[in-house]
Amino acid sequence: MSGQQIDALVVGAGVSGLYQTHKLREAGFSVVTIEAAPDVGGTWYWNAYPGCRVDSPANIYQYWFSQDLLDEWAWTERFPTQPEIKRYLQHVARRFDLYSAIEFETRVRSAQWDEEAGRWQVVTDTGSTYAARFLVSCVGLLSTPKVLSFPDEEKFQGKVYHTARWPQSPVDLSGQRVGVIGNGATGIQVIQTLAPDVAELTVFQRTPQYAVRMKNYKVDSEMMASWRADYPRISKLVHTTFGGFTWDPAEEGVAATLTPEQRHEVYETCWADGSLKMFVGTFPETLVDPVMNAELTEFVRGKIRIQIDDSALADQLIPSDHGYGLKRVPLESGYYEAFNRPNVHLVDVRSEPIEAFYEQGLRVGGREYPLDVLIMATGFDAGTGTLSRMGVTGRDGRSLTELWQRDIRTTLGFQVHGFPNLFLVGGPLSPSAAFCNVQTCIQQQIDWITDAIVNLQQSGKRTMEPTLEREEAWVQHHDEVANSTLMVTVDSWYTGANIEGKPRRLLSYIGGAHVYRELCNDIQKNGYPGFQLA
Ligand code: NAP
Repeated sequence: MSGQQIDALVVGAGVSGLYQTHKLREAGFSVVTIEAAPDVGGTWYWNAYPGCRVDSPANIYQYWFSQDLLDEWAWTERFPTQPEIKRYLQHVARRFDLYSAIEFETRVRSAQWDEEAGRWQVVTDTGSTYAARFLVSCVGLLSTPKVLSFPDEEKFQGKVYHTARWPQSPVDLSGQRVGVIGNGATGIQVIQTLAPDVAELTVFQRTPQYAVRMKNYKVDSEMMASWRADYPRISKLVHTTFGGFTWDPAEEGVAATLTPEQRHEVYETCWADGSLKMFVGTFPETLVDPVMNAELTEFVRGKIRIQIDDSALADQLIPSDHGYGLKRVPLESGYYEAFNRPNVHLVDVRSEPIEAFYEQGLRVGGREYPLDVLIMATGFDAGTGTLSRMGVTGRDGRSLTELWQRDIRTTLGFQVHGFPNLFLVGGPLSPSAAFCNVQTCIQQQIDWITDAIVNLQQSGKRTMEPTLEREEAWVQHHDEVANSTLMVTVDSWYTGANIEGKPRRLLSYIGGAHVYRELCNDIQKNGYPGFQLA
C-alpha cells in the first residue's frame, strides 16, 4: 500500500499545526495537514464553552514570524475570549494561504513507518492515504477529552455536554437547572460565567482549587500602539524566561535572604498583576521547599477566604490536602463569589462519589439532584492521549501506544527512539502548556524541527532518529528535575494521575523553557549529537 507522496504530513491545525504548516511550506516542502475539526483552531475551535478565554496575555499569545501580521492584528482584551483567538487563527490561516493545505473533518487512522520506502504510510478515516517522509504531530497537549460515564445515562432526559466538545452555535442555558462536574481551569470559567444566568447551578466538586483573580482589561487603539512598539523587545524576552512569559521568578536563594514581610510584599505584587505571574513568578523555592510552599499557600488561602461569605463553605472551597501551585493554577473572575449566590450549590463528591443518572438528573449519596443540563469540565488525557489513539507504528512494528502505556518517554519531547522522522510539537517531556506560555514554546520547537528537517534534506540523508542512549539520558534528566519538585507529589493531569492506569511521570519538562531552548540550540549547532542521521 502506498499513498500520495508528500514531504510532510502535519496532524492538527491548531496553534502549532498552522505555524508548522507555514514553516515547512516556506522551506519548500510539500505539506498536507490533517484536522479533525471542520475549521482551524484546535483547542480554540473545540473549547467553545461559556466563559472560555486564554490566561496568557494576548501580547505574548501570538505568532512572531510576520511583521505584517503583528502590524495589522489588533487585540481587544488583555486575556481574549475563545471566539477572538479563533478569529485570529482563522485570519492567520487565510493570510498565509494555509487553508489550501488542510484536509478538514479527517482523522489519522494509522501511521506506519515503511523502512524500505523511508516514509510514513498514513491512512485517514476518510480513506485518503499518504506516503510522507516526515510525520509531524501538532495534536496539542490537551486535546482528547476525559469523558465520564455513569450508570443509567440513557435514562437521563436532559442534555450532557463536555466542555471540549461544546456546540459551535450558542447553547441557551438561561432559566435552566445546570450541573457542572469539574472545577479545574475550565470548570471555573464555566461556573463563574453561568452562575448569574441559569436558574440553579449545582457544582459537583471532588477537589477544591486555588485560583488567582484575573486582572483583565480592554485594549484600545492607544494601548495597542504601545504594545506594538514593545513587540521587538518582548518577542525576544519571552525566550529568555522560565515560563515563556515576560517575567521571571526571583533568583534561587533570594527568598532566604528576605524577611517573611518582604516575601509577602513579593506575593502581593504578583497577586496584583492578576496573571500567571502568581503561579511561577514568585520564588522558585515555593515549588520545591515544603516550608516555602506552605507560606505562599497560606497567603493564597487568605486571599480566597475573604471572597466567600459563609466560612463553612469557604472551608469546602479552599484546598487543604495540597499546596498552592502544585497543580496548574487557574485564573478566575468571580468564581468563589459565585458561591455566595443563592442559586449556586456545592455538592461534595469526594466523600460520596456520583452514583448514577436518573430520569431527571444525577444521584449522589442517595440524594437526587434534578438537572436539565449536565456539563462535564472533566479535563483531558493530556500529553499522550491523542497520539496514542492514532495507530502509530514505528521501526520493526513497534507501537507508540504500547510503549506509552508502559512508559511515557521521548527525546526532548521532539522524537521517540524507534520512530524515525516522527516529530512532536509540545510533546511529552518538553516544556509545553503545563509550564510554558504555549505560543513561546511551540514556536521555538517548530523552528527547531523545521531546521532539523532542512538540515537532513541538505545533508542528503533520509532519516533522523534519537539513539536509545540519548533518549535514556533525557528521560533521566527530566525525571531528576521533576522529582526535585513538589509537583510530583500531587495527583493531577500534570502527572497523568487523572487517567486510570496511565504511567506516572511529570508530563512536561520543568527545568525552564529558557534552559531547554539553550539545550536545543546547542544540539543544532553541534550537528545533532545523540540523533542518528542516516
Ligand atoms: P482539569 O484541570 O484536569 O480538571 C478536571 C476537573 O474534573 C477536576 O476538578 C477533577 O477533579 C474533575 N473530575 C475529573 N474526574 C472526575 C470524577 N470522576 N468525579 C468528579 N470530578 C472529576 O481539566 P481542565 O479544567 O479542563 O483544565 C485542563 C488544563 O487546560 C488546565 O490546567 C490548563 O492548562 C488548560 N486550560 C487553560 C485555560 C486558559 O488558558 N484559560 C482554560 C481552561 C483550561 P479532581 O481534581 O478531583 O480530579
